[in-house]
Amino acid sequence: MKKQLVTKNLAETIEIGREIGSSLKGGEVIELISDLGGGKTTLTKALANQWRVKDVVTSPTFSLVNEYQSESGMPVYHLDLYRLQNLEEAVEIGLFEIAESGYVCLIEWASAIGYRPAEPHLVIEINPLSETKRRLSVWKYEN
Ligand code: ADP
Ligand code: MG
Repeated sequence: MKKQLVTKNLAETIEIGREIGSSLKGGEVIELISDLGGGKTTLTKALANQWRVKDVVTSPTFSLVNEYQSESGMPVYHLDLYRLQNLEEAVEIGLFEIAESGYVCLIEWASAIGYRPAEPHLVIEINPLSETKRRLSVWKYEN
């Protein structure tokens, strides 16, 4: 079932990110969908902070993969596949190992290389409605 809601500003999106973070059990693969500047990285930061990641969460635009340690010792992975050309390049950066690691893994731009994480996984789609308003749609992708 798709859950939809509208955030009026950045603070509200951060709040939603924290709520999603609180609801995670561990091991979730989350696909983040939006155009550039939609708020994927912003949402990831809030979610990771709620998951007790103390490191500063930055965008993986150039690093492709960021790995953080949570207080519990469990890693959190954040990937941005925008700059990859194909699945082979994704294999090189360890995408499949990471996605199947059993740790929380957030992926931006999976669509850039036609990658679809194994089912079930969580999808969060962000649609800007204005400069500061976002519609968030959250659903579980499974058969
Ligand atoms: P992406 O990772 O999708 O490219 P970012 O998270 O890097 O996007 O950037 C989102 C930008 O939009 C940030 O500059 C953020 O401050 C701004 N913004 C404005 N309003 C919102 C909102 N309601 N939710 C999320 N981001 C917002
Ligand atoms: Mg981003």
